[in-house]
Amino acid sequence: MIRRACFLLLIFLLPLLGLSQEKKVVFIILDGIPTSELERVPTPNLDQIAKRGGYTRAFTGGERGGESETPTISAVGYNSLLTGTWANKHNVWDNDITAPNYDYWSIFRLMRAARPESKLAIFSTWEDNRTKLLGEGREETGYLKLDIVFDGFEKDTSRFPHDFEKEYLQKIDNLVSCEAAYSIKTQAPDLSWVYLEFTDAVGHRFGKSPQLTSAIELADKQVGRIWEAIKIREEKYGEEWLIWITTDHGRKAPEFKEHGGQSDSEREIWMVTNAQNLNNRFNSGQASMVDILPSLVDFLEIPIPDNQQKNWDGTTLLLK
Ligand SMILES: [Zn+2]
Repeated sequence: MIRRACFLLLIFLLPLLGLSQEKKVVFIILDGIPTSELERVPTPNLDQIAKRGGYTRAFTGGERGGESETPTISAVGYNSLLTGTWANKHNVWDNDITAPNYDYWSIFRLMRAARPESKLAIFSTWEDNRTKLLGEGREETGYLKLDIVFDGFEKDTSRFPHDFEKEYLQKIDNLVSCEAAYSIKTQAPDLSWVYLEFTDAVGHRFGKSPQLTSAIELADKQVGRIWEAIKIREEKYGEEWLIWITTDHGRKAPEFKEHGGQSDSEREIWMVTNAQNLNNRFNSGQASMVDILPSLVDFLEIPIPDNQQKNWDGTTLLLK
């Protein structure tokens, strides 16, 4: 009890001593969940996080009809989040990821440059996120290296045979979310990306359906697991954690099967976060995919090279 009191006193004194609490970020992409579906299906864990911070509808896809118009395709959306820019800059136009422009630094590279000792982590159902989008180990990314890697299981077809129903993705998502929670609890990476895919597979096959409802409920449980781990860290170690959850694109109404185009429902995404200092841009539903990177940077308080910051297409969703 005394130890706990001392610890709490220390946490209280940190700001007075000019030191800030350790800040950690986790961002999660739940693939292809239409906003109206997310709002219809019970998601107690996301609700709990939003209650602490906020929930908003948002958009992706760049400026419709403009230079920055960006396909509402998965890898394209992830890279808009990672770089804070639209496809006309980051140059990822589809899931083949043939020639990403690594001159637009990802949040991981920005963090590595600002804080070389930081612990970077990825927990992902798709290996290309690390090898192609983040460009791990490539000369063009300054040989970016992550510290904790948990991905590639979709390539292990003996452990996860690829069934027509794509249930194997559900199993991998489950494994990935368990490992993310465990790693956060035990190793507390400074920056983590969790990517879960099953909801997109179900959307493509069934569209709006009981199956999609179940997949969203399951994704909510997987997020809940990670949120529990964060709460344990906050309670036990006094760290300050930011969690940011979003989807990479909507789906074409009314069936909600396909995506890639510029219709309202394909462009519409959503965000859930525990951040309490959300600004009017967030609260008024004007937020977009490219605003997430500046918000994470803001929270982490890391310095950004001018020649990177000037490229950003988004702005922070946090109050200054
Ligand atoms: Zn997707």
